[in-house]
Amino acid sequence: MKDLIVIGAGTAGLTAALYAARAGKSVLIFEKEGIGGQIATTPIVENYPGIQSISGIEFADGLYEQVLALGVELEVDEVLKIEPQKDHHKVISSTKEYVSKAVIIATGSKPRLLGLSREQELTGRGVSYCALCDGLFFKKKSVVVVGGGNTAITEAIYLSTYAEKVTVIHRRDVFTADLNLMKQAQEKSNIFWKHNTVIKELIGAPSLSALTLENTKTQESENFSVDGLFVAIGQIPQTEYFKDLVPIDSEGFFEIGEDCQTLIPGLFVAGDCRKKAMRQLTTAVADGANASKAVY
Ligand code: NAP
Repeated sequence: MKDLIVIGAGTAGLTAALYAARAGKSVLIFEKEGIGGQIATTPIVENYPGIQSISGIEFADGLYEQVLALGVELEVDEVLKIEPQKDHHKVISSTKEYVSKAVIIATGSKPRLLGLSREQELTGRGVSYCALCDGLFFKKKSVVVVGGGNTAITEAIYLSTYAEKVTVIHRRDVFTADLNLMKQAQEKSNIFWKHNTVIKELIGAPSLSALTLENTKTQESENFSVDGLFVAIGQIPQTEYFKDLVPIDSEGFFEIGEDCQTLIPGLFVAGDCRKKAMRQLTTAVADGANASKAVY
């Protein structure tokens, strides 16, 4: 019997564990993939208060070490089900079953796919969802980043240090990335821009070698030679396993307020899997603290 089980070792989950452990609670975190979640794949973070610049992995490692030092346990396994009971909850993973007085779901989100027919086949063969993980493979090559948000522009800036040419393709001419990031990207001489453009087809075998692009204003098509494609078109919340317990909105995010409390006593949600106006490192940290306070 634990005081708290946290599902997901991203920023929200680790922060919740940090606060709960500091309040003297016994805490177990489940993580199915990598410690740190999304921030661990972010090349550089420059908007966390008090830290001028830090790599995402360094930030995640620091947070992980901080919770380990407080005695928090980690189980590398996927939680498939939560069974709420009267005064505790069962947490069922692919191999084990635990009980806990409280559970925080902090499962975050995963990259959205373009939905093109050969996308899965070419993933790892030129198509990537993580510049930090795969950027080095494209040293002195030509790559495309698709998307117009903070992730796309951060990745384009990172890739511009390795690749010979980075082309940002966005379906509109208005970007949602922060102005400061846009300015940094626009100052790079090897970043090029294609607005009002969508990718219609991935070409190449066994690896990606070109894209068929279409201009959404003129409907003109072109064949665009490329070595790599980095997809950064937003995130899909990982809420599937728990949507019977906690209501979700039309995009799949948990419809739970800032207090992170669900209608089931002892069950909470935190971080990017929750419906919210802004998904940032700062708001993930805030959710972790709020959820932990609610648990306490
Ligand atoms: P996002 O802000 O939701 O942006 C997604 C981008 O992809 C938008 O430009 C969107 O275009 C485009 N898009 C969506 N579906 C598409 C499709 N099917 N085909 C082509 N383009 C498509 O996602 P994000 O950039 O991953 O950011 C997620 C959250 O993390 C945001 O809150 C962001 O601020 C935060 N974040 C912050 C930082 C930072 O502060 N340094 C870094 C990374 C992420 P439309 O605009 O036309 O919809």
